[in-house]
Amino acid sequence: AKASGRNGLRFFDKGMQCRVNKRAALDRDFRKALQAGEFVLHYQPQVDQSGQMIGVEALVRWRHPHRGLLYPSEFMWIAEDSNLIVELGDWVLGQACRQMALWQRRAGRPVPGISVNVSARQFHHPEFLPRTIDVLRAAGVDPRSLKLELTESTLVDRIDDTVAKMDTLKSWGVRFSLDDFGTGYSSLAYLKRLPIDEVKIDRSFIQDILCNQDDAAISQTIISLCQILGLNVMAEGIENESQRDLLAKQGCKYYQGYLMGRPVPPELL
Ligand code: C2E
Ligand code: CA
Ligand code: CA
Ligand code: CA
Repeated sequence: AKASGRNGLRFFDKGMQCRVNKRAALDRDFRKALQAGEFVLHYQPQVDQSGQMIGVEALVRWRHPHRGLLYPSEFMWIAEDSNLIVELGDWVLGQACRQMALWQRRAGRPVPGISVNVSARQFHHPEFLPRTIDVLRAAGVDPRSLKLELTESTLVDRIDDTVAKMDTLKSWGVRFSLDDFGTGYSSLAYLKRLPIDEVKIDRSFIQDILCNQDDAAISQTIISLCQILGLNVMAEGIENESQRDLLAKQGCKYYQGYLMGRPVPPELL
């Protein structure tokens, strides 16, 4: 009995060891990719009602040497529950600011602003404030051209700390956008409490806005509420003119989606 117990234990150990090894290998690959410069940013235009570009959103991709171009849905989960998401986030913020500096010095068509997605772990990291200011300084980018996109779940966590952090960044000129609005535990009280500049209506409401009256009512309500609160509204995931026209009629002033432009490498913007 003792022997089989030992065997059983050994067998179990092997299975666990295998999972731990796989996990460690994934982490190692990810970190190596970060060091090897395999991550790149693509940029998607954001426009106003006249079609004028008012900024771009930076979206990360992994140029995998064997698997081709990978999208966030294919690799973010590897980093999500570890410090890798903070390392990736630091790189994204730095790279976005360096690109912004190049665009600002470019003659003719300067890019007016850049939006960067920030994960909860990254935002709540004790070094987030000093790193962000360092990155802006090192790149020589005006903080007023940077917008940070955060989701509700990030912001409602430790609300007092969060507001204090946002206020500091805002005092430097950085702006905030509330991403994926309506998909999380949206609380109207937070909309009032958080020092945000913009709300992004999630693509899931835009997708069927023409045929689904509930979705149309939700977007109208978000837009009306934001008008009262003095917040800009950006609709994401707009793919056709009918969607844009309906949103315009509802009072939405800023748009992002394949209709206005797909995410592209910086040289194509
Ligand atoms: P998100 O922040 O909601 O970004 C918008 C997503 O919708 C992007 O997907 C974009 O390519 C896609 N999209 C834009 N317009 C359209 C459209 O008209 N139709 C359709 N079907 N899709 C459209 P992407 O690039 O695959 O990114 C997915 C998510 O990954 C992002 O959603 C964001 O949550 C996350 N993500 C991307 N880059 C970063 C990053 O640098 N840091 C962090 N923390 N998250 C990121
Ligand atoms: Ca976003
Ligand atoms: Ca979204
Ligand atoms: Ca998002």
